[in-house]
Amino acid sequence: MSLIVQKYGGTSVGSVERIKNVAQRIAKWRRAGHRMVIVPSAMSGETNRLIALAKDIQPVPDPRELDVVASTGEQVTIGLLAMALKQLGLQAKSYTGHQVRVLTDSAFNKARIIEIEERRIRADLEAGTIVLVAGFQGQDELGNITTLGRGGSDTSAVALAAALRAEECLIYTDVDGVYTTDPRIVPEARRLKSVTFEEMLELSSLGSKVLQIRSVEFAGKYRVRLRVLSSMSEADQPLAVEAASGTLITYEEDTNMEQAVISGIAFSRDEAKITLTRVPDRPGIAYQILGPIAEANIDVDMIIQNTSVDGTTDFSFTVHRNEYAKAMDVLGSKVKNHVAAQALVGDPKICKVSVVGIGMRSHVGIASLTFRTLSEEGINIQMISTSEIKISVVVEDKYMELAVRALHKAFGLEQGAA
Ligand code: ADP
Ligand code: ASP
Ligand code: MG
Repeated sequence: MSLIVQKYGGTSVGSVERIKNVAQRIAKWRRAGHRMVIVPSAMSGETNRLIALAKDIQPVPDPRELDVVASTGEQVTIGLLAMALKQLGLQAKSYTGHQVRVLTDSAFNKARIIEIEERRIRADLEAGTIVLVAGFQGQDELGNITTLGRGGSDTSAVALAAALRAEECLIYTDVDGVYTTDPRIVPEARRLKSVTFEEMLELSSLGSKVLQIRSVEFAGKYRVRLRVLSSMSEADQPLAVEAASGTLITYEEDTNMEQAVISGIAFSRDEAKITLTRVPDRPGIAYQILGPIAEANIDVDMIIQNTSVDGTTDFSFTVHRNEYAKAMDVLGSKVKNHVAAQALVGDPKICKVSVVGIGMRSHVGIASLTFRTLSEEGINIQMISTSEIKISVVVEDKYMELAVRALHKAFGLEQGAA
């Protein structure tokens, strides 16, 4: 029978009751004859608790030691879930990332998976054992424990599905699929039966945390069949119903794709904007500003630069809010005087709202409707960036929810509107 990888998020394994419930669900699949690899997250709130403990001791935690601490949440859930499965009379065995050997690079706190050893998992699966692999964690070449960044167990699951050439990777979470926007912000949001891989990539990279961006990248690269579905439904619902529920991520070669112009609105509160004003405009300026930022390992998102008639330019860019202080430091100490900027101005109270849809390729007027909607709400746009299938705007963060709701409505994304 087929090999299925299932990932269960924090809320789905958030209590002993829920863990027992997940075990029932896995048992149903196993008893139907499937070979099962299960990737649980830590119990909800646990990773936050562990990181807070670390910060209580060291305000900026040592990255290596932070991973030693933060990775432990998943070790608890694999063990508990294995026990719950054994209670149901099934064979189950848990493995940490280190035991499997999920090999990653050494970028602590945001490591990338390089390779997954299959040997142990394959042997267990052959013996009919359900294999539980701790999500979010790996090991670098020197044996150091690494973690994959917040939300990283999605990536563990998809990478395992790719390595094991699984039939399907099922991401069980506390919503029943991918919605037109976060249903916590817009209760009228509608579940998508399917979403193209490209749209999902944009939605994830622009802030929809339902799937970690790297898991979507992996899925695309290895063409993993990926579905997001609910772990809150009845565990004993018929398997065929469950298998067809939620949201399927589709690829170009799939037929019958749902083809809406706009598929969703994403948003991110984790942004900060930095501007160097009146920088003399000459070749090499962008490099002199962003080179030291890259050397400090800070990711830059949007960049805007426009030379004014007087030969100077305001150079603005955005970074993750967590890296704002570090970026301001680098610019203040190494860059501002060097490039003869008039001032260094920062704003950590911004957010990014994005309209995503593959139909933008063939439809005009999406940008103008976006701008009109925001203007009617009196929301000032600070930055704009576009790609073939998305339009992103930076606005003051107090307007974020208003902007998301207004755009969701303007593009007719609510339930019953289609
Ligand atoms: P898990 O712990 O299962 O990994 P997450 O909290 O990481 O769950 O992701 C699920 C959450 O993602 C949902 O509860 C929802 O609030 C949020 N979310 C954000 N954008 C979307 C979206 N477009 N569709 C569905 N959920 C979304
Ligand atoms: N437990 C980790 C986190 O909270 C990984 C995950 O949930 O995917 O970020
Ligand atoms: Mg998650």
